[in-house]
Amino acid sequence: MTVDYASAEVLSFASISISQKRRQQPFGHTSQTHIYNKFSRRTMIATWTPRVSLERNIAVHPFNSTVSPNGELKKGVAAAVQIHNTVEPDINLDKKSLHYEANSSESMVAKLPEMPGLPFPSMQRAILTPEMGENLNLVLGNIAVREPDYGEAVIQIIYTGICRSDASFSVGPGSGYPKQNHIAGHEGIGRVVKSHDPFIIGRIFGIRYLGKSCGSCTYCIRSLFTSCPSQLNVPKHITGTFQEYATVPTSCLVPLPDALLRGDVDLAFYTAALCSGSTALVSVRATKASLGDVVIVVGVAGAIGHLTGAIAKQVFGARVIGIDLKSKIDILQSQDHGDYSDILLGAPEPDMGDAWSNFYSILMQSCGKLRRNHGLRRAAEAVIVASSSFSAFQRLDEYVCDGGRIVCVGVPKGNNNICLPLHSVVERNLHVSGNLMGGHREALEVMEYIATGQIKPRVTKVALEDIPEQMQHLVHCKTAGKIVVCMSASQH
Ligand SMILES: [Zn+2]
Ligand SMILES: [Zn+2]
Repeated sequence: MTVDYASAEVLSFASISISQKRRQQPFGHTSQTHIYNKFSRRTMIATWTPRVSLERNIAVHPFNSTVSPNGELKKGVAAAVQIHNTVEPDINLDKKSLHYEANSSESMVAKLPEMPGLPFPSMQRAILTPEMGENLNLVLGNIAVREPDYGEAVIQIIYTGICRSDASFSVGPGSGYPKQNHIAGHEGIGRVVKSHDPFIIGRIFGIRYLGKSCGSCTYCIRSLFTSCPSQLNVPKHITGTFQEYATVPTSCLVPLPDALLRGDVDLAFYTAALCSGSTALVSVRATKASLGDVVIVVGVAGAIGHLTGAIAKQVFGARVIGIDLKSKIDILQSQDHGDYSDILLGAPEPDMGDAWSNFYSILMQSCGKLRRNHGLRRAAEAVIVASSSFSAFQRLDEYVCDGGRIVCVGVPKGNNNICLPLHSVVERNLHVSGNLMGGHREALEVMEYIATGQIKPRVTKVALEDIPEQMQHLVHCKTAGKIVVCMSASQH
């Protein structure tokens, strides 16, 4: 069953007539009905739930529209309509019969739909920045759970990832960010526990940095959603996921397909797909890697890095050389890493004499080894830099062979420039690109890879109160894999 909310939103502002087969429906009884949209001149099938109780209470309908006594949907009148699919215009459909005859001149707003059996809390725990400043200042606090407005839902967060970007979002204040009591977090999975839309109560959704984009500007049309001037971001315009209950617009929620939820995959793994995994996927796609190509992942120990290696290797059939700080590589060497990296190398120490030439010699040997010394001796087909350390962005042209692709993902703090010899870029046909993050589609694709066992994120679960400490570890490059906060592990 497909729910076309976009059509429903259009309908809510259109003048439409409703075919109500039965004149009187019991409160809450759902039936199918036809809706004729005069704007699109199409007939649609909708599930129609009259919300008129014996007490003549009317619940507010999910799309902020209402039913007037003459059967027209207008903004402000109440009904619950869920559009399932569009059907071709039915020439035999008698438009005059499409008339809703309920007489509901007196309307009262009923209690908002809530998760049955779950007492709705007034207060919750959250990690917040009381006053945005130059340094991280994250504290555990008790705040009120905000009631949802029209078009919003309260999500009980089950898991939230911790991303290094959250450190950037928590200092400043940056333009558009709240100055006080800011809540970061942009990789959440949770359940709707309260909403004006009764149809989404209990459903599982994802919350991502890019909540919503307009879908019609020149950037959206080119799939550059993060450049959309009308975008809504979590945790900028919308409160973040470092809290037990986030009140967010329903238009910013990513529905997780039933097929993904049917199995026994821990939702913590899917959390890793929302930001880190989707970013990893678009980064690998940007390399245009083919079967057997050698792809270097710099920052392979990190959340994005290890997923980048896993996708390059397991999905695209590339051979992967993973590079990271020597201290991290030493730990990874002793662990199971074959699914995301064929060869692990410690990064050269900057300002260490022959460090680069020694490193480069090993790198070239590794490329040859992965190609079984077949063909020309050459560097990798692509390098993806997922590190947040600026030293990782040096001499990138030397990592790749002619025609190679350099994909920059991480953004080190400060105003940094990457320098590449112009003759290398031109004469050797190098391609340089940047990539901020993947979209909803990539996030769901990565969840499928996880559900089917193609890739396995390395997830460390922590509790809500651990976020300030974990964020410091991230800033100081001390973490490996993906850190995911398990809300139920928090101590109340
Ligand atoms: Zn992120
Ligand atoms: Zn746009």
